Amino acid sequence: MEQKQHDLVVIGAGPGGYVAAIRAAQLGLDTACIDKEPRLGGTCLRVGCIPSKALLDSTERYHEIKHGLAGRGIKTGDVELDLAAMLAHKDGVVESLTDGIAGLLEKNQVTRYEGTGRLDGPGKVVVEGADEVTISASHVIVATGSVSSSLPGVEMDGDVIGDSTTALGYPEVPGHLVVIGAGYIGLELGSVWRRLGAEVTVVEYLDRILPGTDHEIAREAQKLFKRQGLKFMLKARVTGVRKQEQGAVVEVEGKDPLAADRVLVAVGRKPYTEGLGLDTVGVTVDERGRIPVDEHFQTTAEGVYAIGDVIAGPMLAHKAEEEGVACVERIATGWGHVDHDTIPGVCYTDPEIAGVGKTEKQLEDEGTPYRKGVFFFRANSRARAIDRIDGRVKILAHEQTDRVLGVHMIGADAGHLIAEAVAAMAFGASSEDIARVCHAHPTLSETVKEAALAVDGRPIHA
Ligand code: NAD
Repeated sequence: MEQKQHDLVVIGAGPGGYVAAIRAAQLGLDTACIDKEPRLGGTCLRVGCIPSKALLDSTERYHEIKHGLAGRGIKTGDVELDLAAMLAHKDGVVESLTDGIAGLLEKNQVTRYEGTGRLDGPGKVVVEGADEVTISASHVIVATGSVSSSLPGVEMDGDVIGDSTTALGYPEVPGHLVVIGAGYIGLELGSVWRRLGAEVTVVEYLDRILPGTDHEIAREAQKLFKRQGLKFMLKARVTGVRKQEQGAVVEVEGKDPLAADRVLVAVGRKPYTEGLGLDTVGVTVDERGRIPVDEHFQTTAEGVYAIGDVIAGPMLAHKAEEEGVACVERIATGWGHVDHDTIPGVCYTDPEIAGVGKTEKQLEDEGTPYRKGVFFFRANSRARAIDRIDGRVKILAHEQTDRVLGVHMIGADAGHLIAEAVAAMAFGASSEDIARVCHAHPTLSETVKEAALAVDGRPIHA
């Protein structure tokens, strides 16, 4: 067995792992990164954020050209779908980006190992690939991410009944797609296939969609998605899915079963720690399978750290990246920090939904006094000029100090607009601070300024 030595070994080359490896190398650590997949980038790049965004964009364009240009003086003629080409475009995007990660690791002189990494006692990692390699390192970062959760009574065959990976590549547009779970995955991929003509029914256990998102925003989202033709069954618990000769039948507690051509199971994800050898360093996972860490991402074993989806917090690529960077900066310099209160969340539906900080419900529950400013996209001149009048921006600020505690929005480009709110909150801004910043006219960003003015009851265009 080959023996190697590095200062730091990162297990997993997803957004958390590869970013941590690059930053560590920049800081002068002899760094290695292990991944079992030949294509780097993890779930996000290979079968998550990136391919879904390619499909969301392609289907949005298709849908707009087919249905959305009436009244704009653009005649289009027959518009046809070439699904195979659309899927090939998505695969091309993934290929070029994953190649890019390999190039970045090489440029930064990060040693790459292809194979499955596992801990083998303190300071030791074994890579099982084409050859077996044993690596000794004083620091090991576990960045192995997460896998789709399954549902009891539902056996996924990766074809008719599958998870998000399957739903990124259906070879034909399903007649009826049943989506189980109204979270980010269910709504993004449900939207993709709806735009291509599928009938889509979203079955959700809770009495609302998008758990974790501010209630007011989630209610508006549901109204808009319904208008787009998505059907919702709320307070509906799926108890089983039976495969039929053609399609499947979805059993819902206390309701009639649903016949489906395809079923997308999108009921959350769970940390991926299988076969990782955590026991060899005395690390035990919590009741949800997460690796417990301290504020510096150190596990109970000295020199073993964990970041991203395998630890507590939202399962988001950018959260993992921040943690990866903070973790290696701390190892190399003694300093490193993530502000977990300002991690934004974005759902890339149309319109986009974005939020950062506390929701109204959270502030109410904890008894924090707040003022609220809301501004509607329909009162923004740019939104009107481009026919994107659905949505609102809501800013929540402390009643006495005016410090911004949360910003929540739904509307065109919300995923970009939220960046201003994140920066403002990271710098401890008040709503007055945002209101006094000059925003270019005419832009959608003026909705944020106006919402900030509305906190003090003085919006100009409302
Ligand atoms: P989620 O946790 O966001 O939503 C799952 C939903 O399934 C919940 O609303 C839950 O109530 C429902 N559910 C659970 N059991 C059910 C049952 N038996 N019957 C009916 N409904 C049931 O999970 P997700 O959408 O699968 O996403 C997984 C993870 O991936 C999340 O952590 C998410 O943050 C992340 N993700 C993020 C993005 C993004 O940032 N845009 C996109 C995709 C995924």
